[in-house]
Amino acid sequence: MADIIQLLPDHVANQIAAGEVVQRPASVVKELLENAIDAGATDITLVLKDAGKTLIQVIDNGIGMSVTDARLCFERHATSKIKNAEDLFNLNTKGFRGEALASIAAIAHVELKTKTAASEIGTKITIEGSEVTAQEAVVVPKGTMLSVKNLFYNIPARRNFLKSNPVETRHIIDEFHRVALAHPQVAFSMIHNGSDVFQLPESNLRQRIVNIFGSKTNEKLVPVSEETDIVKVQGFVLKPEFAKKSRGEQFFFVNDRFIKSPYLHHAVAAAFEGLIKNENHPGYFLYLEVDPHSIDINIHPTKTEIKFEDEHAIYAMLRSTIKHSLGQFSIAPVLDFEKDTGFDTPYEYSKKSPVAPSVEVDKNFNPFQKEARQKDISFPYKRERVASWESMYVGLEDEAMPSELKGFEVESEEVTGRLFEKDTEVASKVTFQVQNKYIVSSIKSGLMVIHQHLAHQRILYEELLKSITVQEAVSQQLLFPLSLHFSKPHVAILKSLQEQLEHTGFVFSEIENETLEISGVPSGVLESNVEGILQGLVRDFENEVPDASFSQNDLLAKSLAKSMAIKSGTVLEPKAQEHLIHQLFACKEPSVSPTNKLVLVTMDVNDFDKKFA
Ligand code: ADP
Ligand code: MG
Repeated sequence: MADIIQLLPDHVANQIAAGEVVQRPASVVKELLENAIDAGATDITLVLKDAGKTLIQVIDNGIGMSVTDARLCFERHATSKIKNAEDLFNLNTKGFRGEALASIAAIAHVELKTKTAASEIGTKITIEGSEVTAQEAVVVPKGTMLSVKNLFYNIPARRNFLKSNPVETRHIIDEFHRVALAHPQVAFSMIHNGSDVFQLPESNLRQRIVNIFGSKTNEKLVPVSEETDIVKVQGFVLKPEFAKKSRGEQFFFVNDRFIKSPYLHHAVAAAFEGLIKNENHPGYFLYLEVDPHSIDINIHPTKTEIKFEDEHAIYAMLRSTIKHSLGQFSIAPVLDFEKDTGFDTPYEYSKKSPVAPSVEVDKNFNPFQKEARQKDISFPYKRERVASWESMYVGLEDEAMPSELKGFEVESEEVTGRLFEKDTEVASKVTFQVQNKYIVSSIKSGLMVIHQHLAHQRILYEELLKSITVQEAVSQQLLFPLSLHFSKPHVAILKSLQEQLEHTGFVFSEIENETLEISGVPSGVLESNVEGILQGLVRDFENEVPDASFSQNDLLAKSLAKSMAIKSGTVLEPKAQEHLIHQLFACKEPSVSPTNKLVLVTMDVNDFDKKFA
């Protein structure tokens, strides 16, 4: 039999390669914009006709190409960006495969005009179906202009496969957004069928997001920022109340490259758990910087999927950083315990002598006297609303006051939690319990309702985690050692946790066979509760199939926090309520419990206003 294998001609090979790189006009847009970025452009214009089906043109002010390079750039595997395989793991450019221009030239009419800073005159090359049809010298400014006309002119099947103009335009805009968001310091514009679609001046990231998605976006952004040895994260998430049913703005960038990562998306979604409805999707613009050696970008022709070396660590870090930001900037209401007696003394108290000696009362205080008040008001409008809301107490007889409020003492404590530092809007410190389950407090914007059990879980969890890992907690010696009986396997579980448990304050004088002898317990734990706490711990460790990303310490702290936290139904003195709030807001993530349940809800005065309208 005769030999039947033959090498494919270049233009056929290029057409086949094009199938991978160029699916639709948007793919061309992506490749050309990325080439312009790689060329160091600071100003990039995208011109389109008929959703890119007739014309896609990218004009940049980058380094341009020499005559030889202008010719070479259309060859397959022609690239200036890597020289050997090692370079693949040290990439600072978008491109490196050297096949985009070769592929595009195989399936469209392409015209290139380019000039470097060093040469006087530029080069123009016309190429159709991989054949150079003309080359001449032209007068052009420094930079490159690449025009792609009649995409898929020689592959009718592909051309017929294209979707309607609005759909293809949508895809192009998506690609445009991704590149523009990755490079806010570069100016971009987009013109479609002669009209301006986007004009994005050089700016910072926040401004770029706002310029693309509209001025209303600004107030929705919660900044995120964290740096560890393996990854630096920056950017914004959208406040949970702006989460949408449809997948909206979800952007991950790794080393300035837009990527898709269901895994990292999951980390973000986990951080939002409990804060948005299940059917809603969080919005985010997150920029990760990692060592180029620790990622592999080469796994997909369009390079939107990458592999991380430290995937698990990045997941955990992302999740906790975002939770932290949400707690700090948006979910957790800002309380202020700063002394400002003119405001936080309810009007009623101004007329009589204070209950507690620590109260400082301005006898002449009159909330209706505007001039006197306005002196130190930084947010006059809002404060007035708060003040008038509080004046609901005015004229109430003592008997009509909730009993919890009667003995209320005003204290001027220094508060050190982060949350308290910035905002100085004042709310009353009055707190009270509802059904011995919730603590209600007034805040600058209205009301806050805290779930006492979950709040205490959060507080204990953070304390326990700290004592287990960093410092040992105070132990409380028992007068008589406590003897408890557990099954052998359960004693074994507790024994495996002995060291960590001792860090939290437990002292075991014996852990043997089926007996446990305890001579000390964490401070604040009642002897009568010890057995229940340890039983709960054993149960949790039996049931939990530990997730690789969650350590034993985490589970231990969660379990202990759950059984040690004050229960719903416990009466709390006003002092204790206040202390709890205080401790809660000194936590890293005050708004969610260790098991991701909502710890508090806030109600805005505006919502009340609507109800009474
Ligand atoms: P890659 O980007 O993977 O290197 P391309 O086919 O996209 O492959 O481009 C081939 C080469 O052409 C690039 O490596 C670069 O040297 C040159 N090039 C492409 N576009 C531009 C541009 N806008 N400005 C300057 N040089 C460019
Ligand atoms: Mg390229």
